[in-house]
Amino acid sequence: MLNSMPPMLVCCLDLEGVLIPEIWIEVARRFKSDELKLTTRDIPDYDRLMKYRIGILKKKNIRLKDIQKVIAGMNPLPGAKAFLTALRAQATVIILSDTFYEFAGPLMKKLGQPVLFCNWLKTGRSGFISGYQLRQKDGKTKAVKALKSIGFRVHAAGDSYNDLGMLKAAGRGILFNPPLAIKNKFKRFPAVTQYAQLLRLLTASQ
Ligand SMILES: [Mg+2]
Repeated sequence: MLNSMPPMLVCCLDLEGVLIPEIWIEVARRFKSDELKLTTRDIPDYDRLMKYRIGILKKKNIRLKDIQKVIAGMNPLPGAKAFLTALRAQATVIILSDTFYEFAGPLMKKLGQPVLFCNWLKTGRSGFISGYQLRQKDGKTKAVKALKSIGFRVHAAGDSYNDLGMLKAAGRGILFNPPLAIKNKFKRFPAVTQYAQLLRLLTASQ
C-alpha cells in the first residue's frame, strides 16, 4: 500500500522586526538622525523610502562601511536564534527580506546561517550608497507563489506592509509584533507577540 505523504512545509519569514531589530532604526539612532528612522511601516512605497534614505546618508556623510560597522555591533532579537533553530528542526526555513546582502552578513552568522533571499546595494567609488538592485519586484510574494507551484506547503510570518503580499499568498499567514494599525486593519491574519506562539502557529498542521 502506498502512503501519501503530506507536502513538505516551507516557512518563509521576514527578517527585520521578526528575527532582528530594524537595521535602519539602529543606524538612525547611532547617527542621531530622526530622518533615517522612517521604515516601510511609515512609507509603504519602498522605492520612495530608499531614495529618501540615500539622500539623507549623503547629506550626513555616512558611507556603506559606516553602516556596516553599526550592523556588526547588532544582535538578533532576544530568543530569535532559539526560535529559528526550533523551527528549522521541523520545517525548511527561508528568510525573505527587503534588506541587502551587504547589510545582513554579520546578523545571518549570529542566527546560524539560515537561507536568505534579499537584495543588493550599489555603491559609488566614494563609498556612498548610490542605489539598490532588487532581484525582482514584489520578491517575497513571488517566492511564496513559486514554492507553492513546485509542491510545497508554505506558511509565512512578517510584521509590516511589505509582508502582506506573502502572507496572503501563503497557505497560512501570521503577523508577528505588527504595529497596531496593521494588526487592526488585517484581522484575517492571526497576530502574535511571542516566539512560542509563532512556532506553534507556523508548524501546527491545522
Ligand atoms: Mg519587517
